Order: sequence, then C-alpha cells, then structure tokens
Amino acid sequence: MNFIYPLSRYIKITQVYWSGHLGVDFGWNDGAYCNQPIVAIEDGTVVGCADGYGNTYPNKRIYGNYVNISHGNGWYSMYGHLLKGITVQKGQTVRKGQVIGYMGNTGYSNGQHLHFELRKGANAKANSIDPLNYLFVEDRTIFVNPSSKEYDRIRYRDTSPVQPVERNTAVDQIEVGLAFLNCRNKPSLKGERLGFLAEGFYNVSEITEAEGYTWYRIGLDRWCAQVDKVTFLKGSASKTYKVLFPYVSVGDRDKLIDLAQEAQLRIIVEEN
Ligand SMILES: [Zn+2]
Repeated sequence: MNFIYPLSRYIKITQVYWSGHLGVDFGWNDGAYCNQPIVAIEDGTVVGCADGYGNTYPNKRIYGNYVNISHGNGWYSMYGHLLKGITVQKGQTVRKGQVIGYMGNTGYSNGQHLHFELRKGANAKANSIDPLNYLFVEDRTIFVNPSSKEYDRIRYRDTSPVQPVERNTAVDQIEVGLAFLNCRNKPSLKGERLGFLAEGFYNVSEITEAEGYTWYRIGLDRWCAQVDKVTFLKGSASKTYKVLFPYVSVGDRDKLIDLAQEAQLRIIVEEN
C-alpha cells in the first residue's frame, strides 16, 4: 500500500506511536494550522463515523468526531478529534486525498490536533501499528515542520537513496529487514545521512570495517552499517575478480565497482 499523509499540506507530529498511544498526533495547538483539511490516506469506504460532538475533555469520549475508513486487504484508518461537520457519511466511497473533515479539538482532547491510527488485520484499536512506517509524502512541496518529532522519518520515508533489487544468489547482497536503516555517503557515522533504506535486498559491492561497524557499499557513495536485521548473503558466482588499487583514480575505482555490481560480478577489492 502507498498511503499518503492524512493532512494535505502541513505535517507536525506532536505525539508518536508507542504502547501507551496507539496512533500519531499531528499539529497540536499550532494556531496557524488549526482546522486544516484532513484527507483519506487511500481509496476506501467509510465504515464508521460520528459527528456533532464538542470537546469532552477530561471526560472520555475518546475520538470525538471521527471518520473510520476501510481500505481493503485488512487495512483501516481512523481520524479522531475532527471539527463538527465531517464531510463524509458511513457507507460512502472515498478517494485517496479526498477531504473527509477538518482538524478539531473534539472528544478527549486538549488542543487542536488530529489523532490518526492505522490498523492492520482487524478494525480494532488493538490492531493499530505505527503509521509512520507506512505513510509517504506524495507531494514534494508539502511543508514538513523541521521541529517535528520524527522529522527525518517523514522527510525520507519516500526517498530511499538506493532502491532495493531482486534477490540474486550469484552476487553478494544484504537483506535489510528493518524500516529505518540509515544510508550514508561514506562508511562512517560522520558521513552525510542520505535517508532511510526501504526493506529488501541490495547488491553489495564493497565491505569495510570502520568505527566498530561492518559497512556495506550498496551504490556509488551509498553505504550502510551492519545492524540487527541486516543479513549478509554471500554470492555464489564462480568467477571472482580481484581488483587491485590504486592503479586507477578513486573516481574510476568507484565507477568500476558499480559497473561490476551492475554486471553481477563478484569482485574483491584490494588496496595495493
Ligand atoms: Zn492521539
């Protein structure tokens, strides 16, 4: 699924997902962005909604005015604390990006914000998962407030610096099994962080040790460190090419490594 953020033009996360808060809060008390439109994260059908409630804090009517959408395949989204006057009805089909209501402060809420939940498997709060692992910033002009918690996760989620490839047993690969593995421009924690890698397989063209980590080179100036849930898969290609340096310039060396990687050759780099 390729869910978009539930807000059309402003993202500020004020509370993240954790065991005591099974959703993400957006935009709390941010005056300039009060009452902004809330949009459906994906095509779907409205399976539940409530309207006409005011603020009930501190008494619990948890969600206040809300919209609950089924997106198929067991995915559900929940949008809480909306302003009175939601713009959809139960049973209605909605399109991705369609306005379903406006940010409010209704129900058990003490400030303007959207409480958003993403549910997987069943339409129950207990089935809520961390939405930030699944939401994409579709419109690159969208304004992400730099003071947002999780700013990097929002900003980089849709810009994996290297795209995963098919599993190929002939070449050295890593399998990345976590959502937020940093990709850097050099094998160092001091290297510039270019974004997060999507989960999947990546061809490895060079391996090096630095700063207590094993680093994998997965593209031209693209490196990631060995951490939990990163699995190195040694290639089975019979031909291994040993490349001696420094008989070529660093730039040529890098290009050569990437060419070899594209050609699916196993190469060993030796400094000379
Ligand atoms: Zn919340």
